[in-house]
Amino acid sequence: MPPAATPPPGPRAERDPAVVYILGAGRSGSTLLERVLGCLPGFVNVGELVGLFRRIVVQDQRCGCGEPFSGCPFWQEVGRRGFGGWDPEAVRDVAALQDRVARQRNVVRLAVPAVAGAAYRAELARYEDVQRRLYRAIAEAAGADVVVDSSKWPAPALALRHAAGLDLRVLHLVRDVRGVAYSWAKSDVARPHVTTDGAAVMSRFSAGLTAARWTLVEAEAAWLTRATERAATVRYEDLVEHPRETLARTLAGLGFSPALGDHLRIEGGLMTLPSSHGIGGNPSRFTTGDVRLRVDDAWRTRLSRRDAALTTAIGLGPLLGHRYLPQRPTSDRPRS
Ligand SMILES: [Zn+2]
Repeated sequence: MPPAATPPPGPRAERDPAVVYILGAGRSGSTLLERVLGCLPGFVNVGELVGLFRRIVVQDQRCGCGEPFSGCPFWQEVGRRGFGGWDPEAVRDVAALQDRVARQRNVVRLAVPAVAGAAYRAELARYEDVQRRLYRAIAEAAGADVVVDSSKWPAPALALRHAAGLDLRVLHLVRDVRGVAYSWAKSDVARPHVTTDGAAVMSRFSAGLTAARWTLVEAEAAWLTRATERAATVRYEDLVEHPRETLARTLAGLGFSPALGDHLRIEGGLMTLPSSHGIGGNPSRFTTGDVRLRVDDAWRTRLSRRDAALTTAIGLGPLLGHRYLPQRPTSDRPRS
């Protein structure tokens, strides 16, 4: 029996919003998924909140709306409502707290806080409080009931599971590891987010390292999805090829009405995506208007034989589990 489709009625500020946390490996299409969800009535997408205190504020990175963080009226409103503004010292303090509490190295303690010491549990409680204030401020500033956070890393989601009263819903996004590996190996992918300092191009990683990290994140994401009452798993390839059906199924799993997807403007493989106040993520964030939904499967012809074999071997378990193997038949796949 699915849970109630929408949050209960009542004045917006008196309750915490539902939080849809997108889990998965980097370069899996989370920016697209987050922006699509942000088009639904009552939803707001805010990008990768995991980088907010650590990078976005201090580097004054560009918001999805095109403004530097310090010049975006939405984020300034969030700061005022949640924290009385973005005081640099307080921001550094939260970033340090986040580093001590909600990093990947803390996964075991986050999964079983009872085994962690009292000092760690006290810091975790403080971190939870900051996150709740942040989500609530976002919902209030946007007039939304649902906040879509595409942070992707499992550790912050694990930390949020313990926040009392937080309505956390987990959306596990998966993409074929070979496509992920090819994407991470690409060079010279610009980062329009940068305004003052910071790297101007996206990071690069080898196929083997990407596949190892993908496999680890897959295992943690699968565990979290099973352990969360309102959760769904979506394949990037299904989202792009069959957006309406995939979203209806995803919304149902997350405890929302599948009919919400009827509000999306999808026509002939094109979807209209307005700009948003999402932060971090893929440079595609800055492309607005009619966006063509097409599977990026350049890896099929461009990923080297060696890297394809290596990534397949490392990611074999999840590849089978998510039905990427045996290879799905596609009419345009080269025979050799
Ligand atoms: Zn903005």
